[in-house]
Amino acid sequence: MTWPPLREELRGLEPYGAPQLDVPVQLNTNENPYGPSAACADDIAASVRAAALGLNRYPDREHVELRTALAAYLSRDTPHGIAPEQVWAANGSNEVMLQLLQAFGGPGRSALSFAPTYSMYPEYARDTATRWVQGSRAEDFSLDLEAAAALVRAERPSVVLLPSPNNPTGTALPPDAVGALCEAVGEQGLLVVDEAYGEFRRAGVPSALELLPDHRNLVVTRTMSKAFAAAGLRLGYLAADPAILDAIRVVRLPYHLSAVTQATALAALRHAPELLGKVDELRAERDACVAWLRDQGMRVADSDANFVLFGTFEDRHAVWQGLLDQGVLIREVGPDGWLRVSIGTATEMQAFKDALTQVRKDQS
Ligand SMILES: *Cc1c(COP(=O)(O)O)cnc(C)c1O
Repeated sequence: MTWPPLREELRGLEPYGAPQLDVPVQLNTNENPYGPSAACADDIAASVRAAALGLNRYPDREHVELRTALAAYLSRDTPHGIAPEQVWAANGSNEVMLQLLQAFGGPGRSALSFAPTYSMYPEYARDTATRWVQGSRAEDFSLDLEAAAALVRAERPSVVLLPSPNNPTGTALPPDAVGALCEAVGEQGLLVVDEAYGEFRRAGVPSALELLPDHRNLVVTRTMSKAFAAAGLRLGYLAADPAILDAIRVVRLPYHLSAVTQATALAALRHAPELLGKVDELRAERDACVAWLRDQGMRVADSDANFVLFGTFEDRHAVWQGLLDQGVLIREVGPDGWLRVSIGTATEMQAFKDALTQVRKDQS
């Protein structure tokens, strides 16, 4: 017998996670490089203080005030509006997606995505004993809609997970894709459009939120970890048909969202204009980064997010390590030969460019 008596399929597995290294330039987890102002931090502290006075009680299990604020925030992205009854929050959108698989996946069911995609999805499937099915994206990382719909019809998955923009490639779904895939998934499954990077999408590109009234099998997830500059808060949420929320209520842990988290998120939402204030600047920095990398002769995936996938390198680990040696941490992720850099401040992006130029010179 091996110790500890772990589930067979988990034996020998390493936990997921990017290296957390204390280096000057951290461009590896797609965080917003701009933190909250002192005024915002003070407001958060005051909110948390008020919540602390009631910490002897369990928090609002239904987190109604927070769902109301999130619904108001999401309503800006759809002419149909979003009601609090359609919104559910948890500790990061990772928890939201795990809850979705707990309720809608499981033995005898499958979950499907198209590679390269977010590396956590197969882990939620594994942890909920849901069969994992992986289709693939085209050479340019776009989704071949017809092939995707055909795979969905053949596999009949209970949950289809599609990030838009996609991580790690930055590719946004074309506007007609969501409706077509909802049709292909049909009533025996859910299409989850993971809009973790939704706020970075290009002007004029609609959010999948607009399609909620047309498809009751559509779930749109968001997070405060990326554009919203609150990765440390751990707050993710979804918008969907209220019947889907009822299913999640069955599997969620009791009082899963702490009073401190709810108070912090509410205060952060009051400061949305400030916290989201650098999104335009980050988008411009992203476009400049794409242009620069292409100028240097590298391959670069089109990005609608706050990161860029570039390559290709014969030995990407050596490039990653060479950058790290100069104090620049990026992410070794994606298809063979590619690397991903998160968009930081102008100063950080200059440090990245200088370090990459040096590494390529050293290695040529
Ligand atoms: C970062 C990210 C998330 C957000 O995760 P949180 O748990 O909300 O921090 C979700 N989906 C994708 C594709 C991501 O890259």
